[in-house]
Amino acid sequence: MRQKIRKGLLAYTAILFPLLFFFLSPFIIVMSAANGVINGSAVMFGLLLLISLFGSRLFCGWLCPGGAIQDQVINANNRSWNSKWKNASKYIIWIVWLSFIVFLWIHNSPLQLDFFYLSGINLFIVIIYFVVTTIIYVIALITGKRGMCHSICWMAPFMVIGEKLADLLHIPRFRLKADSKTCVSCGKCSKNCPMSLNVLEMVTSGQMDSYECISCLECVDGCPKKVITCGIQRK
Ligand code: SF4
Ligand code: SF4
Repeated sequence: MRQKIRKGLLAYTAILFPLLFFFLSPFIIVMSAANGVINGSAVMFGLLLLISLFGSRLFCGWLCPGGAIQDQVINANNRSWNSKWKNASKYIIWIVWLSFIVFLWIHNSPLQLDFFYLSGINLFIVIIYFVVTTIIYVIALITGKRGMCHSICWMAPFMVIGEKLADLLHIPRFRLKADSKTCVSCGKCSKNCPMSLNVLEMVTSGQMDSYECISCLECVDGCPKKVITCGIQRK
């Protein structure tokens, strides 16, 4: 039931993506910064960081329209795609991208806050929407399971920073727990994980924390022995 609700929510955000795009766009935030404006995307990315202090990456697993697109592409390519080096690329892209935005903010200050800046539909915005959704689709099609989340997502680093901050400050946040004694090593958790994490190894090693985990709870709900549970707790 819980997975039906999650998948339903993701499908709904995918339908709403043409509207949500204005507030999650990696391009409109740059165009706004070039005009000295802190727009809706900038506010939303800041909010995602704050929410992840206690909610970890629940947004990615339950509400992200980009994630929803990729989960559909799994029907065409469900190859596992996850490694330290593949995951590193998004941080490099993110640092360059955010540095450029901060440079524009400093260069164009004083800044004004306008949540709905550039949120009108025109041909240029439609082209940007088409380009971004196509990039998400093509990368997932080439790489496999949530390959875009692993490799280029511009939102994930905000939430990973929030998670790391929470751990550093001992703030309780949403995380997985496991009782490895009851595990029968069937491997269903690893097979079901949309982020291609080796969940079985996480269970046997007792290390359930992964910054690539999107808190989708597929592993929790699919485990025949109910080995994995979740809750808000300190590290
Ligand atoms: S699905 Fe459950 S029982 Fe099977 S390997 Fe994973 S944790 Fe162990
Ligand atoms: S480890 Fe579990 S909760 Fe995390 S992404 Fe994989 S299946 Fe989802």
